[in-house]
Amino acid sequence: MKTGLKVIEDQLEALKASGVYSEERVLTVPQGSKIDTLEKSGVINMCANNYLGLANDKELIEAAKSSYDRWGYGLSSVRFICGTQTLHKKLEAELSSFFGFEDCILYSSCFDANGGLFETILSAEDAVISDELNHASIIDGIRLCKAKRYIYRNNDMAELEERLQEADNDGCRVKLIATDGVFSMDGIIANLKGICDLADKYEALVMVDDSHASGFVGKTGRGTPEVENVLGRIDIMTSTLGKALGGASGGFTLSKKSVVDWLRQKSRPYLFSNTLAPSIASTSLKVLEKIQNNTELIDRVNENTRFFREGIKEIGLDVIPGVHPIVPIMVYDAVKAIEVADYMLDLGVYVVAFKFPVVPKGKARIRTQISAAHTEEELRFVIDCFAKAKAEFNL
Ligand SMILES: *Cc1c(COP(=O)(O)O)cnc(C)c1O
Repeated sequence: MKTGLKVIEDQLEALKASGVYSEERVLTVPQGSKIDTLEKSGVINMCANNYLGLANDKELIEAAKSSYDRWGYGLSSVRFICGTQTLHKKLEAELSSFFGFEDCILYSSCFDANGGLFETILSAEDAVISDELNHASIIDGIRLCKAKRYIYRNNDMAELEERLQEADNDGCRVKLIATDGVFSMDGIIANLKGICDLADKYEALVMVDDSHASGFVGKTGRGTPEVENVLGRIDIMTSTLGKALGGASGGFTLSKKSVVDWLRQKSRPYLFSNTLAPSIASTSLKVLEKIQNNTELIDRVNENTRFFREGIKEIGLDVIPGVHPIVPIMVYDAVKAIEVADYMLDLGVYVVAFKFPVVPKGKARIRTQISAAHTEEELRFVIDCFAKAKAEFNL
């Protein structure tokens, strides 16, 4: 066998032996609060990013179907050659208006939005100051750029200020602070108020990736800037259409007109990757229409979250406190966390264990996520099953 293949096979063996090898769970039905998997039918799904329950929404399915007749199936082109329909321009305008930015640029994913951001707007004379818990796509995006890198401890404003001072002392031209709006492993909201205040003091730009917030966090779903009262103070925001906003796929970057113009000229995933499928662009407009003047789904996911967090606390499990529908239940040991997840599936609840390298060593957890689609009865059942798991595994 070629050495290259042998090395990979040995690594796989070692991973399997350590008990932390992951396998895909295969669904046989559309996404929803109750799903069928190949192993088990009728399980409550506690791990989708389907916060508003729109992933299998009847109105959206109808909108997607009718878009095929009007706009076709695919565009077989990147945006700037022949891959831009009026549809894409309209969606960019609507996203700008909903989130309160001058302009917007679509990508195939938020991973691409982040991958195409930093190297496009920063160069070797500049600085990027990044939260240690930022999403992999921010980290990779930063790796692609030549700017000096400064990392601060999660949500630690004192350390952020030190890093800003260091960047000044190092003579950096532009300083860009990059943060997740919501830290997805913990369900914790970034201190955007503190970040924006420091950004003003040190004349830094602020970039927020609001993937786990867009459409449902904040009273009207404008995301973490709405919760933190800093609407209009964020310079660049990236987010995804692949979570609350319908869950199909796609990402976008919001900013001032000049920044978006520059991204359209230089951002590599935009220039060298296919356009967003017409059906997704078209259906995303329907998503925005649904949530624009109606907070019903937002209110429901928030009520469900309060109910679930309360119930889990009552049975005495160790939860990272907060208000976000990401509710992480701490198990600490990675192998045990996987066993708990398997046990829960037997009982009829689908949850996933998160372990190193996704979270720090010794901090393994079951990350549950609440949806507007969950019924109170389903959530009550899940809490009862967690009570059984607590007794069984001495959690
Ligand atoms: C999910 C997520 C992404 C990736 O979004 P995609 O559109 O699926 O590529 C990027 N950043 C954060 C913070 C996320 O949670």
